[in-house]
Amino acid sequence: MKSYIIPGLPIIKEGDDLALLIEQRFKLQEGDILCIASTVVAKSEGRFRFLNDYTPSERAKELALALGKDARFVQAVLDESDEVLMHEPFLLVVTKFGHICVNAGIDQSNVGFDRILLLPENPSLSAEKIRERISKDCAVIITDTCGRPFRCGVAGTAVGCAGIAPLRDWRGELDIFGRTLEITQEAIADEIAAASNLLIGEGADQTPAVVFRGLNFPKSGGCLFGDRRSIPPGARVSEIHRRKDPSGCSWLGLKVFPVWSQCNCIQLQFKNQEHFRPSSSNR
Ligand code: GDP
Ligand code: MN
Ligand code: MN
Repeated sequence: MKSYIIPGLPIIKEGDDLALLIEQRFKLQEGDILCIASTVVAKSEGRFRFLNDYTPSERAKELALALGKDARFVQAVLDESDEVLMHEPFLLVVTKFGHICVNAGIDQSNVGFDRILLLPENPSLSAEKIRERISKDCAVIITDTCGRPFRCGVAGTAVGCAGIAPLRDWRGELDIFGRTLEITQEAIADEIAAASNLLIGEGADQTPAVVFRGLNFPKSGGCLFGDRRSIPPGARVSEIHRRKDPSGCSWLGLKVFPVWSQCNCIQLQFKNQEHFRPSSSNR
């Protein structure tokens, strides 16, 4: 597999044609995987907002006070969310398109002062539109940098994709010793997004688009986000662990989230008010 950084992309404005800007700078080939940072997709879709666009509700004011955040920002997060899973020490939400992340993925970096940038409204639709506009049959993955349950540090994640299956299904295949794999579904879109993030960068690099060439990938199968409705409210972790939604997503991560304290040790917090603390030797 080879990787390429698409050079010289400008500061993206609302209405910019990302597919065109990319193809003007890079010769795509059939079967390429084009990874694009959600930031620039959102910019092209005009997802900029001013904090003054928001009038905070009482709930937003309460949450903002506890979090030490601007109530208008909190209102923006609430507006982009279907459900708040955790409200301290940060706002962990389910976005309207099903992605679980902090602050509904709203960014203030690489945006310019005073403004905030919402995630694309439906990143898989954004990916499909870009895919339709490029001249070659390529896969498109829209990435965002996210924290991960139980791990320190952030990584690139797929928030939308088109022309590639989010999951590769290994079930039914044999291991070295002939045992049939029963569970494994590999989150290939996330794996590719994480690799792309190594090249995309987080700061001033201005390299929001990356291409991978030479990787065989399934074109259909699985979904990026599971169906939360298959989990009853207040379900215990043991139960969540056993349950799978029809897409085969494990929901262990749904109600169990790490809380990063300042000293970077991890305390696990269960949404249904059960608490589990690692022993002091783990700190
Ligand atoms: P996110 O992970 O999608 O939230 O995006 P980041 O803020 O981490 O930025 C990812 C990459 O895109 C970095 O290399 C940024 O410098 C770059 N970037 C962000 N906005 C723009 C833009 O408008 N134009 C260009 N060329 N690069 C940008
Ligand atoms: Mn982001
Ligand atoms: Mn990033």
